[in-house]
Amino acid sequence: MKIMNPEKPSLHVFELLESEVRSYCRSFPTVFTRAKGCTLWDSAGIAYLDFFAGAGALNYGHNNAELKKKLIAYIQNDGVTHSLDMATAAKEQFLEKFQTTILEPRGLSYKVQFPGPTGANSVESALKLARKVTGRSTVIGFTNGFHGMTLGALSVTGNKFKRRGAGVPLHHTVSMPYEGYMSDEVDTIAYMRNYLQDSGSGVSLPAAIIVETIQGEGGINVASAEWLRSLEQLCKEHGILLIVDDVQMGCGRTGTFFSFEEAGIRPDIVCLSKSIGGFGLPMALTLIRPELDIWEPGEHNGTFRGNNLAFITAAEALNYWETTSFANGIAAKGKLLHRQLQEMVAAYPLLKGTVRGRGLMQGIAFELEGIAEKVCERAFTKGLIMETSGTDSEVAKVMPPLVIEEAELMRGLAILRESMMEIAAEQ
Ligand code: PMP
Repeated sequence: MKIMNPEKPSLHVFELLESEVRSYCRSFPTVFTRAKGCTLWDSAGIAYLDFFAGAGALNYGHNNAELKKKLIAYIQNDGVTHSLDMATAAKEQFLEKFQTTILEPRGLSYKVQFPGPTGANSVESALKLARKVTGRSTVIGFTNGFHGMTLGALSVTGNKFKRRGAGVPLHHTVSMPYEGYMSDEVDTIAYMRNYLQDSGSGVSLPAAIIVETIQGEGGINVASAEWLRSLEQLCKEHGILLIVDDVQMGCGRTGTFFSFEEAGIRPDIVCLSKSIGGFGLPMALTLIRPELDIWEPGEHNGTFRGNNLAFITAAEALNYWETTSFANGIAAKGKLLHRQLQEMVAAYPLLKGTVRGRGLMQGIAFELEGIAEKVCERAFTKGLIMETSGTDSEVAKVMPPLVIEEAELMRGLAILRESMMEIAAEQ
């Protein structure tokens, strides 16, 4: 095996030994060694500004100093690392803090399930519980929705390529049009209502509807507050459980802790993961309206439901939510980002871009095929990490850590602008 030359990062070892399934190392072809705040460094010492934030798992930045301090102290004191779902002081502290800092101030009442550490784990538990509670099997998902790679999560995911990977039919789900999917004129809630009311529609009454308030992987499609409220109303009319998958949009990404706060809806079940652990450590929650918590003890079980290291950093990260200043900062940076992206789109009309998203989840959708990928590739060569989104990778996505300084944001945006300028000149 070739020993890696620290001067020149080589992906040889990964190409030789790791499965073909690897993906992000293809988009960002270097070997990373260190990370702090919004910056990653590779083994050649090159710095990259991070507009990807671990796919949303690093809202509080890489190696956040306060979180790291608590984590190191816990490890130093031989705190329990693994505990299955035994009661630990770390979990107790997290549960109390989540209750007092997040749920109570928002007037929300949920029981907390630890479903296993990934977003897909949370989605699976939500689907399973909704079916158990209602005794119905069908679940409605949305066009361009993304919920994870396990079979249940894939069954409510839109992307054809990802669905095909299942290798078996993905049953017991129906895909309905997300807001704006058909055209801006079509009210897709009225369309769904028609299906649910008409005994000839071929769609049976579902157990649940699962929705992302902004479709992160599906192209930064934003559902309006009115649409979400109408969806909630539709669910109430028919006794359908509303599941909000806040795995990517939760933990402040859109400007509020939960992405549905602005709409004022109260989902029956909420899926959270990615940044809930705070430090990039795996952790997920399934929030359940208390009356729906009819699980039998151990009915949904697993080995990794007690990542105590994540409980420590998760509890510490909640300090960001004790006042409104963090949320205000996200809103201000979100506005700045929106203005900047609008300017770029206007500056390079040849690329036919439109700005999508809100908060620190925004991007540019390009009409011309392949442009978003080219822009992100070019940005990487200039020291900026950005990924694409959308079924055809048509959106260049800006998703920095929420703690990003305004100056860093502007620095990254300058690279994005330069990349767009070059790609436009090459058309
Ligand atoms: N739901 C949403 C909305 C997501 O964006 C993702 C991951 N991108 C998932 C679920 C799956 O999470 P994980 O990759 O941790 O399984």
